[in-house]
Formats: sequence, structure tokens, C-alpha cells
Amino acid sequence: MTTELMTQLGYVLAAGLFIFGLKMLGSPATARRGNMISSIGMLVAIVSALLDQGIVDFTYIAVGMVVGGAIGAIAARAVAMTAMPEMVALFNGFGGAASLLVGWAALSPDSGTFTLVTIVLSILIGGMTLTGSLVAYGKLSETIGSGAITFSGQQIVNSLVVLGIVGGAVMFCMNPTDPNWLYMVIGLALVFGIMAVIPIGGADMPVVISLLNSYSGLAACAAGFAINNNALIVAGSLVGASGIILTQIMCKAMNRSLSNVLFSGFASVSTEETVVEGEIKPISVEDAYYVLEAATNVAIIPGYGMAVAQAQHVVKELTELLENNGCEVNFGIHPVAGRMPGHMNVLLAEADVPYDQLLEMDEINPRMEMVDVAIVIGANDVVNPAAREVESSPIYGMPVINVADARTVFVLKRSMASGFAGIENPLFYKDNTRMLFGDAKESIGGLIREFS
Ligand code: NDP
Repeated sequence: MTTELMTQLGYVLAAGLFIFGLKMLGSPATARRGNMISSIGMLVAIVSALLDQGIVDFTYIAVGMVVGGAIGAIAARAVAMTAMPEMVALFNGFGGAASLLVGWAALSPDSGTFTLVTIVLSILIGGMTLTGSLVAYGKLSETIGSGAITFSGQQIVNSLVVLGIVGGAVMFCMNPTDPNWLYMVIGLALVFGIMAVIPIGGADMPVVISLLNSYSGLAACAAGFAINNNALIVAGSLVGASGIILTQIMCKAMNRSLSNVLFSGFASVSTEETVVEGEIKPISVEDAYYVLEAATNVAIIPGYGMAVAQAQHVVKELTELLENNGCEVNFGIHPVAGRMPGHMNVLLAEADVPYDQLLEMDEINPRMEMVDVAIVIGANDVVNPAAREVESSPIYGMPVINVADARTVFVLKRSMASGFAGIENPLFYKDNTRMLFGDAKESIGGLIREFS
């Protein structure tokens, strides 16, 4: 068998492993194995690619793998669980940067028109994915504020950047030996990534994160065409397509169209203040315990604050105590709760909460009227009734978990601070809501002590 044939067979095997791995990621029960199978697919693809390249210098590859692997291993170990969403944003960005560099390196004096077009695409999509993801990183870590950033004349600047990219790309394809056109496309692609993400903020961010994930795949796919590598084309298309599906799911979760998120932004309406009526009614751990002790049906709605408090293990412990007390306990999981898709599922799986206890928003909402106590743990935007009741609210129309339909609501958070979208939450002022102030892990720890 020739090495060329072995390489192509290796790519087919890798593609099969990617597809099976992705399929397994669809269920929490098989997700870990799916991740492992996809990683093996990537190893097969890399080894197959190296077999094919008689001319590569293995020293550089070995140094690259050792240095990159060491940085990856250290970063993965050092990152706090709460910083995982930011890390995922960086991964997307670095994927884009890699495609930009591969596309750039693929340029040679005898590149044909098709190759030149794919080089431009990998540089363009890769460049905007890099800077767009860095802005997303800043917004998620709240180093640049999570809200939308707008300024007058923004549309004009955006239009000029797009015109410059199109013009630069056409000129580069016509004069591939003049590097200035390429530099112009690279520079403007980097600017475009920033301009595309800054006007999007607040509750719209999940859509941006999944879209950037998709872009990183599309950039890799274009780079695959540029260097004529089938494994890269397949892997890039899979990431691109699954990212688009995730984007679609996120848009549905927010009840918004993609164009609405990308082109209108929340900025135009987010200045409206939600006027809330009623008063805050704090509750102590002891009083909360008495109510829970008598409850027969409890719903737990976790949000980003559960991740911050790292409360998932004590939540599991409380669930067991409630169940031993003859109470039915379910979890209501909102698709955009936390700071990355599937964030709550990952945390609760880590604490061994059974999957059949996790109900999606559409399943938990019709049951809410039968619930004695809804315990909101560090969730805010995803339980904000303004989305249903206040037409002027920036999140109006976004489906939320209707915790106020339960007989009693306990909200566990540290203060009256708003959530990621930066808006008031009328839930806290409802007659049947009691605020259990404090770090979620400590409050739940207190409840556990009362039970035992
Ligand atoms: P929110 O960001 O709306 O609210 C989290 C709440 O947790 C805060 O109000 C905070 O209040 C509380 N909190 C923080 N730390 C603690 C702690 N140690 N103990 C107790 N409470 C704590 O979270 P949600 O999950 O409800 O909503 C997610 C938001 O993030 C949505 O707006 C969503 O669009 C956005 N988003 C989601 C992404 C995704 O992919 N899932 C990606 C990017 C953004 P306090 O400070 O008073 O304690």
C-alpha cells in the first residue's frame, strides 16, 4: 500500500471517529466517551497527515507538539471551573488564528485562482474569529463589561470595513504577488471581528459564542481546501455545521432570529429600566428549612451563581436529604443558564445528579404550578418574569423558567445585583418570593445542617 493511500484511509477512519464522537456528545451519558473517540480521531488524522508529508521537518513538529501540549495541559489544569466559558472562547479564537496562519502559509507563486480564494476565506474567517473571540473573552470575564458597545457612525465604519475587505480580497486574487493586498485583508479581518462582536452583549452572548465556534470550523474548512487536506476539510465542516446547529438552538432558546441578534443588538432597547413594584422579603436559613421540610415537590433552578459558588456537590446532598424526607425533586435547566452551552449539565453531571432529574424548560414549566418550593440557585436572567410581563424589557419574548408559578420561591444569591444582562428582576419582589441572601454554597450548607 502506498503512503498516499494509507493517508487517505487514515483520513476516512478519522472522519468516521469524528462523526461517531459527535453523535455521542448528544447525550450526557455518552458524552465523555464521545470526547475520547473524537480525540482518537484527531490523533489518527495527525499521524496520517505526517505519513503523507515526506518533506516536513519533524524537529519543528516535535517542538510544536511538546510546547503546545505543555501549554494546553498546564492551562487546562490551572483554569478554574468558573473560567471554563472564557477558555472555550479562547479556544475558538486560537482555532481561527491557526487557520489564518495555515491559509497564509499556503500562498505560493503558483497558487491557482481557487487556492487564492480559499486562502482569502481562511484568512478572513480565521482573522475575524480570532479578534471576535478575544472580545467575547473580555465580555465573559467582564473585563470589558458584558453589555453592548455602540457609537455613532458604527454602521458607516462597518460598511467601510466590509468594502475594504471585498476590495482587498479581489485585488489580492488578481495580484497575488503583491503582499500589501493580503496584509490589508488580514488587518481588516481582525478589525471586522472586533466590530462584529462589540455591539452584541447581555443575554445575546450565547448566540455569539456558538456562532464563533461555527466560524472557527468554517475557517479550518477553508484552510483545508487551501492546503488540499481532506481531514481538515471534514473536521472543519463538522465543527462549522454543529456550531450552526447550536447557534440555531440558542436563537430558539432566546426566541430571536439570528439576523435580529446580529444586526439589531440589545443596545437600542436596553436603556429602558424595568419598573418593579413590591418589597424584598429576606428569609433565614432556619425558616427556609421549615418550609422545605414540609414540601413534597421541589424544583431546583440553577444558574451562573451555582458555578461561581461551586455549589453543585452540596446541591446534590440537599437533593438527597429532601428525597429521604419523601419529597420529589427535579431540576429545571434553561438552555442559556450559566456562561456556556450545557454549563449546568456539566456541573450537575460532575456532582452525579441523575440525568432523568434534569428537565428542560419546556418540561418543567407546565409542572411549576404543582411545585411547593422552587429554589433558584444563582440564576437571575433565566428566571426573570420581565421576559413575559414587561414589553419594554430588553429580554421581552425570551422564554424563561416560570418559577413564580410555584407556591413559594427561594432565591439564593448574595445581593440584589443583576445578572449578565444587567437588568432588574421583578421576581425578587413577588409576594411568594423569599430572598435567601449569601453565597449559595454556604446557604445550602446551612440548610443541610438544619436537615441533619
Ligand atoms: P445570571 O448571570 O443572570 O445571574 C447569576 C446570578 O448569580 C447573579 O445575579 C449573582 O447575584 C448570582 N451569584 C453569583 N455568585 C454567586 C454566589 N457565589 N452565590 C450565590 N449567587 C451568586 O445567570 P443565569 O444563569 O440566570 O443567566 C445566564 C446569563 O448569561 C444570561 O443572560 C445568558 O444570556 C448569559 N450568557 C449565557 C451564555 C451561555 O452560553 N449559557 C454565554 C454568555 C452569556 P449576586 O451577585 O447578588 O450573588
